[in-house]
Amino acid sequence: MFRALLVEKDEDGQTRAGVTELDEDRLPEGDVTVAVEYSTLNYKDGLCIGPGGGLVRTYPHVPGIDFAGTVESSGDARYAPGDKVVLTGWRVGENRWGGYAQKARVPADMLVPLPEGLSTKQAMAVGTAGFTAMLAVMALEDHGIKDGPVLVTGASGGVGSVATAILAKLGHEVAGVTGRPGSADYLTSLGASRIVAREDIAETVKRPLESETWGGCVDAVGGAMLARVLGQMQYGASVAAVGLAGGAALPATVVPFLLRGVNLLGIDSVLQPHDARLRAWGRIARDLPMDKLEAMVQPATLADLPRLGADILKGQVKGRVVVDVN
Ligand code: NDP
Repeated sequence: MFRALLVEKDEDGQTRAGVTELDEDRLPEGDVTVAVEYSTLNYKDGLCIGPGGGLVRTYPHVPGIDFAGTVESSGDARYAPGDKVVLTGWRVGENRWGGYAQKARVPADMLVPLPEGLSTKQAMAVGTAGFTAMLAVMALEDHGIKDGPVLVTGASGGVGSVATAILAKLGHEVAGVTGRPGSADYLTSLGASRIVAREDIAETVKRPLESETWGGCVDAVGGAMLARVLGQMQYGASVAAVGLAGGAALPATVVPFLLRGVNLLGIDSVLQPHDARLRAWGRIARDLPMDKLEAMVQPATLADLPRLGADILKGQVKGRVVVDVN
């Protein structure tokens, strides 16, 4: 038996999440069984703990889009009992059972070995949000980060916090956009040197081009804010589009692309190939200051998740939640 956060759907279509004991034979198919140590909380987890957001098809469901732990048994030569592993993406926790449990079973292809220098707890402090932040920074680097401040939107969220710390460690001036005035000290402690109030940048585009301000941008917000940011980018600079915390529509013009050569780079963490995952985790171990990561973390248990899942959907979670599933 093992403990898990199980989401059940009743006849009226209402979902209910609670901690329960499950039999191991209920685990899904897969060649590697992992004793999960830590999971975390991402925006998508908020959806999957709650009404599903169209991500979960089959109930009862165990959410948790990422986890880190120790291999318990393996039918794949790449992994042996005792190996430490990490999983992010592949729609685990959405269309198959995920990390909010003491055990998980997945195909070996979905796993990566725990990056050297990181504990399972640190790997989940990074989690999908931090892994995605690193992918975004790498994409910006590939296209060239210009001099001048790099903008991070949704800065006090999970993706934003990690992006802020990485960019600052790499020597970039970082400007963090936040809707929470109380987050200024937090963002400064992560390395942001400038705080931009959400309302100053959230308005709909009035002029397609504004003054050339940002040398790059990691955007976790999307919507009207992303549209506005495009018109504020320096000539040839890039925006890594990561999220939609502020909306999926993009009420923009193409003028910044045509007259300023601005690049809009799409970032997907879910289907990244294995080699790209290893590269990104290697960069995380090297370029994310662990003391800054520590400062982002709030600990949680499986029982805390229904409350925290609702909070993250309201944009009320700061930094990274690390869930000790045991
Ligand atoms: P969080 O909720 O932790 O962070 C989002 C932040 O965005 C909030 O903390 C808040 O920051 C800001 N925000 C929230 N609502 C609004 C709003 N209405 N308008 C403007 N800003 C808002 O989520 P994550 O960091 O985990 O994820 C961020 C986004 O990235 C999500 O949309 C998520 O789905 C997406 N994502 C995408 C991935 C991919 O593979 N492309 C992988 C991981 C995440 P503040 O309070 O500082 O303003």
